[in-house]
Amino acid sequence: MFEMVIGLETHVELSTKTKIFCSCTTQFGGEPNTHCCPICTGQPGTLPVLNKKAVEYAITAGLALGCRINRHSVMARKHYVYPDLSKAYQISQYELPLCEGGKVTLSNGREIRITRIHIEEDAGKLVHQGNMALIDYNRGGVPLIEIVTEPDFRSAEEATEYLEKLQTILRAVKVSDCRMQEGSMRCDVNLSVRRKGETAFGIRSEVKNLNSFTSVAQAIGYEFERHVDILQAGGTVEQETRHFNAEDGTTTSLRDKENADDYRYFPDPDIIEILVPEEVLHRLEAELPELPDAKFDRYVKELGIPEDDAKMLTKYRPVSEYFERASEGVTQPKTVASFIITQMFAQIQTEAEREHWNPDTTAEQLRELVRLLESGKISRNVAKRVFTSMLETGKGAHDFLSEDDLAGFDPSQLTSLCQKAIDENPKTVSDYKNGKEKAIKALVGAVMRATKGRADALAAEAELKRLIDQ
Ligand code: ADP
Ligand code: MG
Ligand code: ZN
Repeated sequence: MFEMVIGLETHVELSTKTKIFCSCTTQFGGEPNTHCCPICTGQPGTLPVLNKKAVEYAITAGLALGCRINRHSVMARKHYVYPDLSKAYQISQYELPLCEGGKVTLSNGREIRITRIHIEEDAGKLVHQGNMALIDYNRGGVPLIEIVTEPDFRSAEEATEYLEKLQTILRAVKVSDCRMQEGSMRCDVNLSVRRKGETAFGIRSEVKNLNSFTSVAQAIGYEFERHVDILQAGGTVEQETRHFNAEDGTTTSLRDKENADDYRYFPDPDIIEILVPEEVLHRLEAELPELPDAKFDRYVKELGIPEDDAKMLTKYRPVSEYFERASEGVTQPKTVASFIITQMFAQIQTEAEREHWNPDTTAEQLRELVRLLESGKISRNVAKRVFTSMLETGKGAHDFLSEDDLAGFDPSQLTSLCQKAIDENPKTVSDYKNGKEKAIKALVGAVMRATKGRADALAAEAELKRLIDQ
């Protein structure tokens, strides 16, 4: 009888080579405090210079998420004191963000509205060692976008699906690698609870800095129960910021929720505003690649690929690129998809491996194999066997094709071979006729043996059924 209401704030590091206001590298890791300079550590007498590429990436992200781009937006100082922020203010955006009003559509058809996307600088990182707190400013000044949604989620599944889609979309347009484990994508969960049927929102808590999909789902589950317990006991939820403990999946209070007033936002006098020339906007629009949702629709509707396969192929940009290259000039791209999903995905299993998709077998080698199959030179069985060897060795199809394999199979012989199998196995045929569906497989086996595996098993099965049923 209670319903959860969730809004997400997601921080994503942009893949520019240099930081947002200086020329330090944005490379992840490195010896502490080696990727920083007087500007990104906020020394007196330095001035920030805005990285154009960071703004372009942020605009591209906005366009990919269906936002309106504000040609005029304003940078603002957000003040707070913490050792990871040496200037004691973060340069961010407040009243006029770069992008507003986008959306992401979930598989259940619900639309998650994006309120805004603003651009800002990342802070450094505190490293706790024993009773010491050490500070590493390498990450300070890396360009970020913060993507804020309306409170539109109603379950943990919706929230994690949105994050996965966000990751896929931002990777597709190449503005971020969105690695949650490396912190280049982080998420804050805002959650409140209300009785089903109520229209007003409850009081929310905010859980900070979640860095895996599992943590997001766990934090949502934990907070939902915590809120429900408080409400059922007749209490009121406090508006506060909470910390997620990955060890036990709980959250603990960090501080009272701060208000915008507390941050003393005001326009940054060093940067002031971002003006986007019309031609830059047009160029970035024109450069947008086909987006994952559109790709998915095209794979399903135009290429006839099953939805589950299309989902896997479009989830990872390098995989869809590989698939499209392997499909060039092929009659049935569906066959290429099936080789990738059934045989390659079985070997390349982890998220990281799929994201970096770099198999020894090239797309051209897979294409050659599919063409041999489509031209009838080899059977499906032979192709499967050969592909397994190709994947193991990185060699091309011809290295594994014997004379026998290539002798081909004349489909006009199929009927007589099937008839022969029927005549020689009367018992099996009557089993099949009496409803034992599996008996047909034994007959297919007989045909395959007779052709040394060169016949097409699916075609043989269909032909056997036709002959028996007529
Ligand atoms: P702040 O910047 O102080 O965190 P915002 O008003 O910008 O606050 O909201 C931040 C996030 O909290 C947004 O994603 C928004 O959708 C979400 N949110 C706001 N009110 C609620 C609520 N009552 N329940 C759940 N989420 C909420
Ligand atoms: Mg917030
Ligand atoms: Zn610097």
